[in-house]
Amino acid sequence: MIVIGITGGIGSGKTTVTNLFQAHGIVVVDADVIAREVVEPGSPLLAHIAEYFAKHYNTDLLDTSGQLIRSKLREIIFADNSAKQWLNEHMHPAIRDEILSQLKAAKSPYVMLSAPLLLENGLDKLCQRVLVIDIPEALQLERTQQRDGVAQSQIEAIIAAQMSREERLIKADDIIDNSRDTQSLTPQVEHLHQQYLSLV
Ligand code: ATP
Repeated sequence: MIVIGITGGIGSGKTTVTNLFQAHGIVVVDADVIAREVVEPGSPLLAHIAEYFAKHYNTDLLDTSGQLIRSKLREIIFADNSAKQWLNEHMHPAIRDEILSQLKAAKSPYVMLSAPLLLENGLDKLCQRVLVIDIPEALQLERTQQRDGVAQSQIEAIIAAQMSREERLIKADDIIDNSRDTQSLTPQVEHLHQQYLSLV
């Protein structure tokens, strides 16, 4: 099984690019989607997390429909590093297991694993190649702001917490330049798709 990891900072264009690979029939496994799936209402992991935080932090993390109240959890782990560590120790293996099972189930010539923190979380170890979507920081800010309508300072904080553009590029096997219009992506994706097919 050939797995191509795809990553890039916030608003770099991962979704836009993976949509183009999907149009070629390629299965895309999305780590962000899986991170939400493993704590869906009724999941054993969510029950475990809720129990732990009720006991140690005297907090009810579930709303009336059993959904995780993410803002509450974020607040606690922002203020308390051991809570963050406990959460990561429990979330990461569950996410990794689900990623592996979705990769194994994928029925396309190769499969893509999309994750904003692919490199930070060592998910690149599951991949034969790493494809980085590259854009300058000013464009990251502009496009994310246009999409989400949030404060510039909030996006800057996320960019600062992610790997720098330079570090990411050093780890890239392949690079897509997304600094121009979306049409410029089509030939780049087509070229890489042919290259990845030749690996199979
Ligand atoms: P995130 O990590 O925040 O989920 P992402 O990497 O998946 O983001 P996208 O959602 O694909 O990024 O792109 C961010 C925004 O920029 C979207 O609104 C998208 O439509 C827009 N966009 C992507 N590529 C281009 C482009 N080449 N020109 C103009 N707008 C673009």
